[in-house]
Amino acid sequence: MRKNIVAGNWKMNNDLAQTQTLITALKAQEQTSNAEVMVAPTFTNLYSAYETLKETNIEVVAQNMHFAENGAYTGEISASMLKSIGINTVILGHSERREYFNETDELLAKKVDAALAKGIRVIFCFGEELADRKSGNEETVVGNQIKNALFHLPAASFQNIVLAYEPVWAIGTGETASPDQAQDMHAYIRKTLADKYGNDVAETISILYGGSVKPANAEEIFSKPDVDGGLIGGASLKAEDFFAIVNAF
Ligand code: PGA
Repeated sequence: MRKNIVAGNWKMNNDLAQTQTLITALKAQEQTSNAEVMVAPTFTNLYSAYETLKETNIEVVAQNMHFAENGAYTGEISASMLKSIGINTVILGHSERREYFNETDELLAKKVDAALAKGIRVIFCFGEELADRKSGNEETVVGNQIKNALFHLPAASFQNIVLAYEPVWAIGTGETASPDQAQDMHAYIRKTLADKYGNDVAETISILYGGSVKPANAEEIFSKPDVDGGLIGGASLKAEDFFAIVNAF
């Protein structure tokens, strides 16, 4: 009943030519799973990627956006601008945005509101740092990230939200949460949602795992009952690896 989703976060990688080369390689791959597939190129390549992929099953999504409608925000991109080029999904709250661009739960709440108001689906990322896990605070930290950024929303909004649990210590480090660690946290996230919004919301929302997912570990992670897919960084930059993950369901 829940959607399986595999999303590639290309981060600040690939210029225009490299992006088109990767897209050509993606189009040559065969999908054998039922997963929804998404890729998130940089802003400069977003529209060309959208144009090249619009007749395929691969959705092009944005890595970030600003909460304001328009105006004096030099260097920023609004929800309407994304919509105007055909983009219907945005990644918000990635740990790199939180760490290097000071994005707080409070700011993210505004970005989530702005995206949903324009009918843009949100992939909302969160996750604890290594120190939180070492001190046994991972559930408290994750619970607060979700509550602070999302719990002002009505239940219906969650139809347009995908959650992505990404323990910061596992992103780009080669270190993966064990499938059981991922399952435990995803079950906790679902329970947190059920306590506030009831089982309908909790059971229908897709919760992705992110953090060093690769062809070798995807199948075991995706086999866990509360893991509905992955947000993939490094391994999404190679078409064969990315589709090995897409087909790991
Ligand atoms: P990674 O990145 O797969 O390279 O660990 C995941 C992410 O940042 O979404």
